[in-house]
Amino acid sequence: MAAAPLNLHDFTRSELVALVGAWDLSPVHATRLWNYLYYERVDNFAAMNELPVRLRKRLESETTLGRLPVARETHSSDGFTRKYLLALTDGHRIETVLMRYTGRTTACVSSQVGCAMGCVFCATGQMGYTRHLTAGEIVAQAVHVDRVLRSTAAETPALAEAGHESPHHRHERLRNIVLMGMGEPLHNYDAVMKAIDILRDPSGMALGAKKISLSTVGVVPGIIRLADERRPFHLAVSLHGATQAERLALVPAARAWPLDLLMEACRYYVTKLERRIFFEWTLIEGKNDSLGQAHAVGSLLKGMPAQVNLIPLNPTAGYTGVPGHQMAARRFQEILAGYGLPSTVRQRRGIDIGAGCGQLAVAE
Ligand code: SAH
Ligand code: SF4
Repeated sequence: MAAAPLNLHDFTRSELVALVGAWDLSPVHATRLWNYLYYERVDNFAAMNELPVRLRKRLESETTLGRLPVARETHSSDGFTRKYLLALTDGHRIETVLMRYTGRTTACVSSQVGCAMGCVFCATGQMGYTRHLTAGEIVAQAVHVDRVLRSTAAETPALAEAGHESPHHRHERLRNIVLMGMGEPLHNYDAVMKAIDILRDPSGMALGAKKISLSTVGVVPGIIRLADERRPFHLAVSLHGATQAERLALVPAARAWPLDLLMEACRYYVTKLERRIFFEWTLIEGKNDSLGQAHAVGSLLKGMPAQVNLIPLNPTAGYTGVPGHQMAARRFQEILAGYGLPSTVRQRRGIDIGAGCGQLAVAE
């Protein structure tokens, strides 16, 4: 059986140079190839007409461009959110979301097919775990969203509203990425970090470190590794409960990484990197939205350079909880402020197309 073709999106720029070198061709061609992949976004090898024929032939027979075909595309009624169901080569599918609000363009990308962590209120958790994504499959999602942005800028009311109407913004490009789609990014650490390295390459997608956010359920060894490797991204930790017992009822991964160990890892992270950390708190009426629980979060995080992002629960098929009232979120915020903790309430967007936090899932 022939070996599976190499996915060109799996390669960093220096790895492409090495590949082309191993084929006895000049590294100059690797740079040209990189530009075809990340500037010109060509979608077939024949269009790479500045590459020597010998290289093109070899690429054609041994590699793929790694594009992920769109199996379905849905647009939210407010025009701010689009969701893409993308097909992987082995038949599995993942979801990627493009968000365009507050004048920003953000891709919410997946890191796994499904998720092994089993958070009860999350649609991805409810579908179980199938496999990790490769670095190339993560890169391809961002490239897909960037391609969409380039081809559709200035078409939608969302852009007009955000002041992007002028022709100068026609070549809008992807600036922010959040690893908050399907899966737990720190469970697939190596592929996620490699994908980020590829997307950050200044001569390619050139995403700024400050424009990259990663959300984790609380994989303690991953948080420590991020700190030790001095990875300069925004880190958000899904907390949801301020005592071990309350957290465990919502987040089964708290059994492997209990709250006290998690907090120790978060303190290590903020000290080592001298940066602030974000905590996510999905508000579920009657479960974790009481004033007492707000005080418990306040006491737990007091003194830390932290910000709390409150996320009103989004509906999923496998969980009956409800988000509760806006007032509860506001009161929660006031209490947190009393402990010196800034907070935000996440806007509910894309809910009508199942593109909100925790709603991504694919029937396997
Ligand atoms: N696996 C990572 C990132 C993906 S989920 C993590 O768990 O952090 C991004 C955020 O959405 C997490 O804070 C997660 O707890 C939250 N979330 C999951 N399901 C949700 C739902 N139904 N409503 C609102 N937020 C949800
Ligand atoms: Fe996985 Fe995050 Fe969903 Fe939990 S909330 S099941 S960790 S994707």
